[in-house]
This record gives sequence, C-alpha cells and structure tokens, in this order.
Amino acid sequence: MTKHVAVIGAGIGGLTAAALLLKQGFQVTVLEAHVYPGGCAGTFYHKKYRFDAGATLAGGFSAGGPHHQVAQILDLEWPTHPVDPAWVVHLPDGRAVTQWADADQWRAERQEHFPFAEKFWQTQEMLADVSWDISTRPFPWPPESVGDLFRLAGSVRPATLKSLPYLTRTIGSIAPTDDPMFKAFLDSQLLISAQTTSERASALYGSAAVDLPRRGVNHISGGIGALGDTLVEWIRQNGGEVHYRQEVDQIELKNGSVSAIHTKKGMQINCDAAIGNLTPWGMKNLLNGQTPKKLTNELEHKLDPTWGAFMVYLGIDKQKFFSKFPGTATHHQVIVDETKPLGETNSVFFSMADPDDPGRAPDGEVPVTMSTHTEISQWWQLRERDKEAYEARKNRYAENMLDALSKALPGVKECITFCTAGTPVSFQRFTRRPQGMVGGFAQESIFKARGPKTGIENLLMVGDSIFPGQSTAGVTLGGIRVARQMANLLD
Ligand SMILES: Cc1cc2nc3c(=O)[nH]c(=O)nc-3n(C[C@H](O)[C@H](O)[C@H](O)COP(=O)(O)OP(=O)(O)OC[C@H]3O[C@@H](n4cnc5c(N)ncnc54)[C@H](O)[C@@H]3O)c2cc1C
Repeated sequence: MTKHVAVIGAGIGGLTAAALLLKQGFQVTVLEAHVYPGGCAGTFYHKKYRFDAGATLAGGFSAGGPHHQVAQILDLEWPTHPVDPAWVVHLPDGRAVTQWADADQWRAERQEHFPFAEKFWQTQEMLADVSWDISTRPFPWPPESVGDLFRLAGSVRPATLKSLPYLTRTIGSIAPTDDPMFKAFLDSQLLISAQTTSERASALYGSAAVDLPRRGVNHISGGIGALGDTLVEWIRQNGGEVHYRQEVDQIELKNGSVSAIHTKKGMQINCDAAIGNLTPWGMKNLLNGQTPKKLTNELEHKLDPTWGAFMVYLGIDKQKFFSKFPGTATHHQVIVDETKPLGETNSVFFSMADPDDPGRAPDGEVPVTMSTHTEISQWWQLRERDKEAYEARKNRYAENMLDALSKALPGVKECITFCTAGTPVSFQRFTRRPQGMVGGFAQESIFKARGPKTGIENLLMVGDSIFPGQSTAGVTLGGIRVARQMANLLD
C-alpha cells in the first residue's frame, strides 16, 4: 500500500520535501495554516500591493544549484530572471560597493574598494566553490545514520580536501578585519546570509554564503511567493494535496510514532510519517507534552533564540523614483554606523520588485520590502506591557530605516506613496514561527549544525532550522535531504 506522508507547513522546505516524496511514489498531504504558501518567502496582498513578506532575492537557480536540481527532478520551470548587479552596499563613509554577479566586474569592484583583501577573496572563492560543488551531490550533514556516513564519504572529491584546514576556523580569522569599512562590508553580508558576523561565522559556511551574488541572484515574476505557488501547483497536478487555512495543533503519537495529524479546524490526516516545516519551538508546541527528551534537552539547554526581523513595506512612485535615481539597482543595503552593532536599523536591506512585473502595485507604483535584524524579546515585552510604547518603537524603527535609506538615496522619501511596518509579532502571526524567530540559527560552526531528526523515528524536521539553514536555496537543499531520508525510512 502507498505510504502516506503528512507535511506540516507550506514553506519552501516543506513543499520541496513534499514534491520530491510525491515524485518517488508516496502519498503526500500538506497542511498550511495560512491562505498562501511560502512562509518567510511568501508574497502577501495588502491594499492593492503584492509585497514580498521577507525574502526578496533568490539564488540557487544556476546549473547545479538547489532550485535547479529540483526543477530537473520534477521537470518544472521557475518563473525567474537574473538580476545584475545583485545589490549595492552603501558604507558609512559614503562609498557604494556594487555586488556584481559578473565575476570580472566583481573582481574589479572589490579591488577598487578593498585592494588589501584580495588574498581573502581568493580563499573565500575557493571555499565557496568547494561548498557549492559538494551541495550538488547527496550531502547529509550532519550525518544521522551509517548510511549518511557512506553518502558523505561518497560526496568527497580531491578538491573537497582543500577545505579541511578551514573546518574549524571563522571568517574573521581569514579576513583582514582591521579595516573598519571592510569589516562593516563583510559583517553586513554575513549577517544577512549566515545570521552572524565575521568573529563567529564559520569560514566554510560564511564563504559560501557571501558568494551568493557571484552564484546569481534572481527576481521572481509575481514575487518570491511564486516559488511556493509553482511547487503547490506541481504537487496538486501530480496527485498530492495542499490544504490552506489548516493550522495543525496536534501531532498524534501511538507507541512513540506519529499516527495522525490534527488541525484546529478538526481535520485529521492519518499517516505513516510526518515532516514538520517548523522550528524546534514550533515542533514542541504540537507534541502536547510528548516532546522527546532529545528535543526537550536541545530547547532547554542548547538553543538560543534566533534573530527576528523588523520590516517596512513601501509603495513607491516609479516615475519619481527613476527620474531621481536613473539606472539605479533595485536592491540596496545601507550600513549607517560602523562603530555600532549591525541590525536594529543600523543595517538595512531595501528590495524593490521588478518595476516591469505587472500587477504588483497600483498603476505607476512599485512595491518595496525593507528589513533589519532585530532582537525579538523587547518587542514581545513591550507589546504585553505597554502597547503605546510598542507602537512608538515601531514608528521610530520605521523612521530610522527611512533615514538610513535616504543616506543612500537622498530624496527617496518624496517617492513614497504608502508605508506600513511589521515586527516579530507580525511574523509569528503570519508564519506561525514562535516569537517571530526567523532566519534559522547562526552558522558559527558546521559541527554545531542540526539535522532533520526529532527523536521520534517517523517525524522529521525541514526548513531553515536544519542544516544548511536559511534562504530558499538552503531550505531546498534541506528539503532534498529530508525527502531522501524519509523515503529510506519508509521503504
Ligand atoms: C526578513 C527576511 C528576509 C529574507 N531574505 C531572504 C532573501 O533575500 N533570500 C533568501 O533566499 N532567503 C531570505 N530569507 C530567508 C528565507 O525566507 C527563509 O530561510 C526560508 O524561506 C524559510 O523556509 P522554511 O522552509 O523554513 O519555511 P517557513 O518560511 O518558516 O514557512 C513555514 C510555513 O509553515 C506554516 N506553518 C507553521 N506552523 C504551522 C502549523 N502549526 N500548521 C500549519 N502550517 C504551519 C507557516 O504558515 C509557513 O507557511 C529572509 C528571511 C526573512 C525573515
């Protein structure tokens, strides 16, 4: 009889695992709390705008990249087109460093701004090449079975061995971080891709993460949510089920194994196994006091809360914007003050939708998503104790972000037609991620990475809480691994 896998959550990790299992002949049901897929990489409709909720830049579509691998297996096409330059980084001293996708242009750009760092960039590119190369083969890291160890051994090539001396090093230990502007540049790239800065980011992981522009970044027609839509359409066309407005509130266990999934609305899916597109905190909430020791121990003793995100969503008058800033890139990152920690509006990412993408905004306008890393707890404390102070902080953060943007694009405020903001509270509401924790864990050491196992044999985790962590490309790689691991388990 066909084995049935229930997938909790239609984020990119969950949908990828679901589609790949369906392709391998399993019956698949995806239960999604929201009314559209994608989670942090979703696109939401608000007052005639279609805003990207969190993620805006998609990598991993070039040959061998995770999304490319999935497209080949499923025989589907992604609605992508490349963006070059990927983005422009505005440093506190007024310099603008363009992150070209074109390798020669990027080499010339970095040599102009950071001529002393060439040795670092060469090491970074070598390590990135090793990481991206290994990710084209089954690479079940961290290994969770003897089979995983064999697969890992099989994925090693002579070139992989070049990374060995760097396995336990940080990016800071191989980069010339005594130059404050270079450090600000590097740290801001690492924060958005590895969730930590050069002092702590793993050299191997960080090198691959900051390589994103060189690997090719894309706009997605219709918004980043179209990635999830594409997977949902494929799943439905191939006999799988995706149910929206079905928030799971219980994973039922019988004799220590998952037997059924229950939703708040009373739907019950009996299944042979389940996958949670959840954070460890989200997983615990559904296990109703039956959380395995391993996960409880992890939550109580090992895991620190991850970052949250503060968001500003803007409508922009296209004509005004492009007459003020003709030919400007659609993505900008601004660092305000190199002497202060990044995040909390001191580093800001601005992403404009493709101005030619129809239906994303009222006529003559284009939607923009801006984000900054923020610590979650203060938002929750304020919201519980002092609603007015919460609103005041929200307004202050939004103003700070627009001020930061104005440093890079003077006069941009005059182009704004609409503005609304979101906090970790909004992220919890719309992605069901407890406390609005986003982005997965800081990638400090690959030896601290988390795999899909939960402590319950037929329940695996997928998404940015497992290796290799955040980004649509990262969770897709995780999804490929989880589908394989689940198929082995059920065969
Ligand atoms: C501000 C911001 C900017 C980012 N920028 C980029 C970027 O430019 N490029 C990039 O590649 N990545 C970016 N990322 C990271 C990327 O968006 C995420 O790492 C990735 O999308 C997470 O995917 P996931 O599979 O973990 O699922 P999630 O996005 O966490 O989605 C999980 C899904 O499960 C559903 N769900 C949760 N609980 C339940 C339940 N109990 N019942 C039913 N459904 C449930 C949720 O509603 C959601 O749809 C960004 C993230 C943020 C927050």
